[in-house]
Amino acid sequence: MALMPRFAFGADEPTKKLGIALVGLGSYATNQLAPAIKKSKHWYLAGVVTGDPEKGKKWARKYGFPEKNIMGYDDMGRMADMPEIFAIYAVTPNSIHAANCIAGAKAGKHVITEKPMAISVAECDAIISACKAANVRLMVGYRLHYEPHTQEFCRLAREQVFGPFMKISASNAFDMGDPSDPADYNWRVNKKLAGGGPLMDMGVYVIQAVCMAKAEAAPVTVTAKFGEITRPRLFAQVEQSITWTMEFADGAVATCFTSYDTQVSKLMAEATHGWARLEEPAFYYDEPFLTTSQGPVDRPKVIHQVAQLDGMAEEILTGSPSLAPGEMGRRDLAIIEAIYAAANTGQRVSVKA
Ligand code: NDP
Repeated sequence: MALMPRFAFGADEPTKKLGIALVGLGSYATNQLAPAIKKSKHWYLAGVVTGDPEKGKKWARKYGFPEKNIMGYDDMGRMADMPEIFAIYAVTPNSIHAANCIAGAKAGKHVITEKPMAISVAECDAIISACKAANVRLMVGYRLHYEPHTQEFCRLAREQVFGPFMKISASNAFDMGDPSDPADYNWRVNKKLAGGGPLMDMGVYVIQAVCMAKAEAAPVTVTAKFGEITRPRLFAQVEQSITWTMEFADGAVATCFTSYDTQVSKLMAEATHGWARLEEPAFYYDEPFLTTSQGPVDRPKVIHQVAQLDGMAEEILTGSPSLAPGEMGRRDLAIIEAIYAAANTGQRVSVKA
């Protein structure tokens, strides 16, 4: 797709890359996003936001940006005077995404935020409003929308190649172990930081996959049940596992599962005239295996984060709609809120997406 460099650079600099600032230099930023930025066609790392200035200096040396572009979380306003930073990418614990996204938008930067977009619909609304007010784009780091096997699955669903998918099942989980020292607990089991348990983290992929199978429709109602807690010290604040259903206006039903105590990653979608399966791993960083009732489907292998970052750059530069807009992140939080309400009450709950 031809790029129209209408935001970032002048006609005399048609190949210049766009600067991005990573907000939060943890595992995903270090091991996936920074290397992907380096490999991407459209981006370079132009700055960082971190609570650890010494780490920021190491990053500045490694990635070649000036030390003045190391910011703290309370200091993001300085970015307004850094025209080289075109976008921010929020990669902190979930409950901190909203503040960082809003600060980035107020500084006039396009915003990419990791999943889940935030920990409540109200926070999503605040981020969406801030980005609209600042006239900047907002996207969620839903890398699978840019992955070719998943894109083919979306096409099968959208074009109803086998008819509408009516019976769907999806699971996504990992085992975080059981550290003996609470100091080693991941923020993912801290409700204040994570907003919830595996549903907020791995479960978002399940919700995403089911909505892909329904051509991005939201479910009308959900039911849900928390799983047994077998590691009570670790899971004192959030669920260890949860099963739920998502029920759609056309009668389709999805049965879903996520947890922090087992390893699984798969999706099965059945229609009247065939089926499609994304499997082990359907949602991790590796190549997903797509099989349909007509046989295996081969698509190009990509590094998910490179495909996502370059795809998002092109969406911004061409002004085209995003495959993973903020409204989609908000929809998923509306579904998550309904699932928690259903699990807490034992009732079938309507989704207000
Ligand atoms: P990490 O714990 O590895 O890193 C989070 C970073 O956030 C920290 O290193 C720290 O960076 C910063 N931070 C700011 N405030 C806090 C705080 N109070 N407690 C802890 N860290 C803080 O998490 P991940 O990198 O695994 O996850 C970050 C986000 O990315 C999450 O939202 C997660 O859901 C998402 N993610 C998405 C994936 C995907 O496939 N799309 C995969 C993995 C994660 P610093 O020291 O620089 O301030």
